[in-house]
Amino acid sequence: MAATTALYLDNNATAPLRPEAGAAMQAAMGPPSNPSSVHGFGRAARLLVESAREDIAMLAGCRAADIVFTSGGTEANNLVLSGFEYVITTAIEHDSVLHAAAHITLVNVDADGRIDLDHLAACLAAVPDGRQAQTLLSVMMANNETGVIQPVDAVVEMARAAGIAVHSDMVQMLGKTHLDFAGSGLDYASISAHKIGGPTGIGAVLVRPGNRLTSLLRGGGQEQGRRSGTENVLGIAGFGAAARAGFDDVGLFRQMAGWRDAFETQMRITRDDVTIFGSGVDRIANTSCIAVGEKPSEVMVMALDIAGIAVSAGAACSSGKVHESHVLKAMQAGTGASRAVRISGGWQSQAADFERLAEVLRDL
Ligand code: PLP
Repeated sequence: MAATTALYLDNNATAPLRPEAGAAMQAAMGPPSNPSSVHGFGRAARLLVESAREDIAMLAGCRAADIVFTSGGTEANNLVLSGFEYVITTAIEHDSVLHAAAHITLVNVDADGRIDLDHLAACLAAVPDGRQAQTLLSVMMANNETGVIQPVDAVVEMARAAGIAVHSDMVQMLGKTHLDFAGSGLDYASISAHKIGGPTGIGAVLVRPGNRLTSLLRGGGQEQGRRSGTENVLGIAGFGAAARAGFDDVGLFRQMAGWRDAFETQMRITRDDVTIFGSGVDRIANTSCIAVGEKPSEVMVMALDIAGIAVSAGAACSSGKVHESHVLKAMQAGTGASRAVRISGGWQSQAADFERLAEVLRDL
């Protein structure tokens, strides 16, 4: 039963709220806080929003002015993609990219889940002359199911050479390392607070200066006309505090790669029926996507839950139903796609968590 689950290793779905974020939200709760109001209450709310923006900018490596707050990563992806008629993207993106494009071209990934750059070159070359300005290339920085990191530098270079704007979903990358959006050559990126220990329901688009971004919502013209609607001051305060705490925590994630790798080595030593997806390439430090034995993912997830460990089967779905992973299918994972479980550590994780998981899985 979930209520008795003691060990949480599903941080790519959502991370527990950091105490700093909870405190910041608590402090912001109560006073009337519309940052557009001219009076003292409004000015105090504006101060909260702008100081959070600075903290998030530090973690994302952008200017504070490049941040446009949204209701989360899903809206951020939708907002960017809605500005383009044609989208070239990979087969392993989050649904909020895959379902937001009007006309979509899918680039293949290899068996490790990395974008096929030759196929990308062919897709870029196939864009008809005159259509460049209406076309966006969107390639996620790190995959939510496997943790595999994409060669975004190479992708940016190719997009630039083709004269096409480029976006990256950085939702799972934020907080794992100090990012450099400003120096990345990206035109747009998406981030979300709840993956780093902030609250759900708040995220942002990062926009390179001078790039267009047209609000999906018609209304008050907040966020410099790029996202209408009174700002979610509580959420933004929580996001800012989580980003501030997260900035100091990237060392923990460096360490976590060692814990994750030791867990995977342990699994390979103790069992001969283990497949680890994307283990041959660069991954974010907290994630392991692993198939153990013959049982379907949902059975494994339930068995681990009974053992007191919360993990997930591929991507968590809003319906609570588990579907076969489109990411693993694109990686030609065969039957592994329906047997994989995703393990993902977070800011609260410790080495002992990964050790306990290895013990439980060994005997399962
Ligand atoms: N993009 C990726 C890679 C994600 O993992 C998620 C969340 O699972 C999202 C986007 C959506 O973010 P949000 O939950 O804030 O809408």
